[in-house]
This record gives sequence, C-alpha cells and structure tokens, in this order.
Amino acid sequence: SNHLSDRINSMATSATLAMAAKTRELKNQGKDIIGLSLGEPDFNIPEFIKEAAKQAIDDNFSSYSPVDGYADLKQAIANKFKRDNGLDYGLNQIVVSTGAKQSLANIAMVILNKGDEVILPAPYWVSYSDIVKLAEGVPVEVPTSIDTDFKMTPEQLEKAITPKTKMIWYSSPCNPSGSVYSKEELEGLAVVLRKHPGIYIVSDEIYEHINYVGGHVSIAGIDGMYDRTITVNGVSKAFAMTGWRIGYIGGPEFIAKACTKYQGQNTSGANAIAQRATITALEAPVDKIKFMIDEFHKRRDIVLELLGKIDGFNLNVPDGAFYVFPNISSFFGKTLRGTTINNASEFAIYLLEQANVATVTGEAFGNPNCIRISYAASEKELREAIARIAEAVKS
Ligand code: PLP
Repeated sequence: SNHLSDRINSMATSATLAMAAKTRELKNQGKDIIGLSLGEPDFNIPEFIKEAAKQAIDDNFSSYSPVDGYADLKQAIANKFKRDNGLDYGLNQIVVSTGAKQSLANIAMVILNKGDEVILPAPYWVSYSDIVKLAEGVPVEVPTSIDTDFKMTPEQLEKAITPKTKMIWYSSPCNPSGSVYSKEELEGLAVVLRKHPGIYIVSDEIYEHINYVGGHVSIAGIDGMYDRTITVNGVSKAFAMTGWRIGYIGGPEFIAKACTKYQGQNTSGANAIAQRATITALEAPVDKIKFMIDEFHKRRDIVLELLGKIDGFNLNVPDGAFYVFPNISSFFGKTLRGTTINNASEFAIYLLEQANVATVTGEAFGNPNCIRISYAASEKELREAIARIAEAVKS
C-alpha cells in the first residue's frame, strides 16, 4: 500500500459494506447468516417504475444525459420539493447525481477547503466523515445519546462551532438512529445558526417518506435557512431503487453550478434509464409506496418488542428509517461463552459468530456504545434473528 496515495491509505472502508462482504463470505461457506447490516429495502421496485425504465430503453434513452440531469426530471424534482417539502427550487438549483452518496461527495468537494470543519451530530451516516476527509475537511463529531433520542441540542451545536466551522451535516430521519427532528427542534438549531451566517447546512432527507410520526420537516423551509441549506434526497430508500443509483440536491444556484462543474469532470450525468424511471417514481402519489412504509412500521414494533425483552439491550423508539440503535454497553467487560466483550465492534463480531446475525458496530457511526440493526428484512427473519441474539447473550 505504500504505492498508493495517502488519500486512500487514510480512508476507512465503509463498515456497512465490509459487514456485507463478511456476511457473503460466511454464507458462501455454508453458514446460515441472517443479514441485518445493510441499509437496503428488501422489497422489489414497484412495477410501474420498472415499466417506465423498459419504456426508456425502447425509446432509446441511450446517449449521454445532461451532466446535471434531464430537464424534465429536474422539473419532477422541483415539483416534488414543492409538493412534499414546501420548498421552491428552480431548475438551476437542482443537480441529479449517481446516488445521494455522490451528491454528498460533490458538496464536500465544492465547498470545503483544507481544514474547514464540518459538524456531524453523532451517530451519523457511516460515509459522512470519510467524504469530508477526502475533501480535506475536518469532521467534528458532536456525541449524542439515547437520553436525547440521539438528537443534537442547540447548546451542543453552539459549543461545537468555531471560526473554522463551514458546514453541518445531518440526516432526518437519521441513519443509523432512526431519529426524526421535529419542527421545534430544527427551529432551535436554526436560532443558533442564524447567529453564524457563514455556516452551510446539508440536510440529508433520503429517509423522508419512511417516517412513522409524520410531519417531515426540511430545515430549508425555516426562517433564514433556505439560502444556506443544501437539501439532499434520492430514490434509493423510498422506492427500493438502491441499485439504480439516483440522488439529487436542491440548493443555492452557485452551489448547484459548482456541483455540476465538478461532476462534469468526474462522472458526467447519471444513468439515463434510471433518470427516466425516476421521473415516474417522483410523479407518483406517495400512497403508491405506503405499503412499504406500513410494513416497516409493523416490523419496527415487532423488533422493539422482542429486543426489549433481552436483558442488556437499552432501546428508544426510533420514529423513522428502518434501523434500531440499541445501547449495548452493559455487556462491556462481560464474558459470554468464553469471549470477553470490550466494545461494540467486538459485540457485533460476537453476534455474527455466535448468533449468525450480521449487525453493524455503532463505532462506524461515531457512537461506541451501540449497534445498528436494520429491520429491512422479513418478519420471519427478524423473529429468528432476535431469538438467536437472545440465546447468544444469555449469561
Ligand atoms: N444518506 C443516508 C443517510 C443513507 O443512509 C444513504 C444510504 O445508505 C445515503 C445517503 C446514500 O444513498 P444513495 O443510495 O442514494 O447513494
């Protein structure tokens, strides 16, 4: 690896992808692993969206698309922002990318200079810190705990701000905690941000529709925030389109322009067929995907009930996304089946080896006391997985 760049050598491998690879490897060895480590809906893409993609192939959408996305897709995105979020974004404020992950990477690359600080309320999505570092920024973690439902308070935000703070990045509903910021909570953060006009906000709303309490709030709609917020979204989670790789942003025009310039030298426009299908997905009434949300809701309740019965699992009620994030620190220092558990990573490995259940250590998300369990799996798998976990952690 000394032939490789410092950039790649200092980068962490995505812990969720690493766990997925490890799970595949064990499965290939014939082990009966239940994978609860991935952030991926287990539904098929709705038929009407597949039809749109087939039509796009037949209609010969086979050339390079505009770097920032087809104009009619951007119009559908603008309509969606208005319909679902009450936000007015013109087409020159919207950029379509190869997944929200690329949208986030674009933003980091066009906004951060070396040493600029990015506040990450922890736990945060696994890739945020490495994307920031790749752009030579400095991630500043603000630890939260189960006592505040893993949400950052205005006081914590205020304390974390320094003259070098350039941005704050967060997701709501949150991966990995499932927390949803209410309007009042975001208004509280906005009070602090209004005192610091130079700070940009990345609001990652990719789990917007997977919300069991309703009332998704975009911070861009709060007083004084619109001109400094980049709203990130995509079709991976709500439409089960993870592999089709379409994400997008709405934000200040100069930032959209810069992202387009950067993407133009990096990857160009996103996949043409997937873009066409995304128009159909976004134009559909939200109740077309309600069956998935209802199913996730049901599973969340089952998972909370069953995990709640296991001694040592400390849980809150996550209001969205499809993860629970139990605090399992009461196991630290204990010996289970001859193995001493010292931290969340060891606990996740223990569950993989002794219960044949794949989860992800909270350390990957900036919280060393928790593990993330995805309930994007069938009810049968979830029940079996939790029964195995309960058995494996019995003292
Ligand atoms: N943001 C969050 C919070 C996520 O959980 C994910 C996917 O796991 C993404 C962004 C990236 O999504 P995409 O598939 O659009 O790249």
